Amino acid sequence: RMSGPEPREDHRICVCVRKRPLNQRETTMKDLDIITIPSDNVVMVHESKQKVDLTRYLDNQTFCFDHAFDDTASNELVYQFTAQPLVESIFRNGMATCFAYGQTGSGKTHTMGGAFSRDGQDCSKGIYAMVARDVFLLLKTSAYEKLDLQVYGTFFEIYGGKVYDLLNWKRKLQVLEDGNQQIQVVGLQEQEVCCVEDMLTLVEQGNSCRTSGQTSVNTHSSRSHAVFQIILRSRGKLHGKFSLVDLAGNERGADTAKANRRRQLEGAEINKSLLALKECIRALGQNKSHTPFRGSKLTQVLRDSFIGRNSSTCMIATISPGMASCENTLNTLRYANRVK
Ligand code: ADP
Ligand code: MG
Repeated sequence: RMSGPEPREDHRICVCVRKRPLNQRETTMKDLDIITIPSDNVVMVHESKQKVDLTRYLDNQTFCFDHAFDDTASNELVYQFTAQPLVESIFRNGMATCFAYGQTGSGKTHTMGGAFSRDGQDCSKGIYAMVARDVFLLLKTSAYEKLDLQVYGTFFEIYGGKVYDLLNWKRKLQVLEDGNQQIQVVGLQEQEVCCVEDMLTLVEQGNSCRTSGQTSVNTHSSRSHAVFQIILRSRGKLHGKFSLVDLAGNERGADTAKANRRRQLEGAEINKSLLALKECIRALGQNKSHTPFRGSKLTQVLRDSFIGRNSSTCMIATISPGMASCENTLNTLRYANRVK
């Protein structure tokens, strides 16, 4: 090569869709389930679900992905096809990122953080916990034991273009970029953890910090991106990193029009960051030399995870099954389709 940017290794991208079941409220409202998953990588939206005969519907839209999960899929199954294949890469100096993308209420936090019940959220049943489990399993295998790696966790939130540390009482943090385009979140708590249980304690701490001081559980947390990272270091030096991102809800339109000024600004900021994220993932997938990280705080702080040597990304687009969510569901599917 004579000149120009260094060629990058291929960036691996996997895009999956997960449909949740109709919930109690939707069932009571007699909302219709308009989503079918006819095979393990196809999603069909039946906009006006009128059966023409036993097998055909009117107005179908079909989308293909790397994987599509129907409402019977467990978190464990979703994990097996999305984040799990990336875990080992961080032991080989890799960077991995997993996003949950979708409308508020479609199942992002259920997937990443763990299932909800009357007693709250069981964080041992989410993808955060599964990655932690497998990291500690691999750490003890003969292949990686000799690397003498230490495991650390960070957990922060991005809201309105600002970063808040969820392991330190939502302290507001500055993001700095040095001359080598290295991004630093100044003062971010990076806590060393020695076992899965320690890591889950950290997740719980972050989760409760994320929702504390709110009147309604799903208001503020649905308008912010939450980033949980598992970092491997060898004598202080970065070895590999897995970033798990529970993105802000992507809904917009009718509800933002009548929303207050603050809500509109929030919405604009979220749109901007989700757009920047899409542009970055697309650029990576096409091995473009320029990746527009500066488009948002979200993509800026994830920069090193994206472009490290040997980096991979997976996205879990979560969708609600109901007719009432049709517009948002189609938006989610179109976005996920553009990313892959
Ligand atoms: P989001 O984070 O996208 O706003 P949540 O994860 O909070 O959505 O999910 C909203 C509600 O739906 C929660 O009560 C959750 O338990 C439930 N839910 C989401 N996905 C599933 C699923 N796959 N199976 C069963 N319940 C689900
Ligand atoms: Mg959520």
